Amino acid sequence: MAAISGDIDPSCAICGAPPFPECPHESQRLELALDQAQQRWEKMRSIRSWVLNHARDQIITTFHHLRTTRYHAHLAYLQTLPCFTLYHRFNGAPPIHPTQLQVLHAQIQQANGVFRQGVDEDWRRSCLRYPEVLDYYFELVGVELPGEEEVEVRDPRFGGVEKLG
Ligand SMILES: [Zn+2]
Repeated sequence: MAAISGDIDPSCAICGAPPFPECPHESQRLELALDQAQQRWEKMRSIRSWVLNHARDQIITTFHHLRTTRYHAHLAYLQTLPCFTLYHRFNGAPPIHPTQLQVLHAQIQQANGVFRQGVDEDWRRSCLRYPEVLDYYFELVGVELPGEEEVEVRDPRFGGVEKLG
């Protein structure tokens, strides 16, 4: 009879397979449990929503600035078009030659298209900055780990009952 050692390795807690070769179930299940515990943790929830809200506000504010700048440039360009002031003053029906009006219409339409494309591009670029902006706000969150010698760490109590083991 072989000698029995006290520190034998247990079988997989999930599938019951022998300890060697090690199967992935326990570490997968632990990873899942850790994720679930993190989701239950109130502090993590408030950190996530704090970071998300600030990042979103920041992205949207930046986008609004870009859009305003682009809109002013758009208006400035429209004002350089021949007869645009007249067109504006007569609410789109200026007393000018129909051919001239047609040309002006086409120019305005084209400029509006360029403006819209520019706004889409500003928004797309703003959204691409999310990773950087999220990192920034996460970095602002102070996280302090307890010392290893603190009693709650050295001698934890769970559920108000006797300590484990
Ligand atoms: Zn297993």
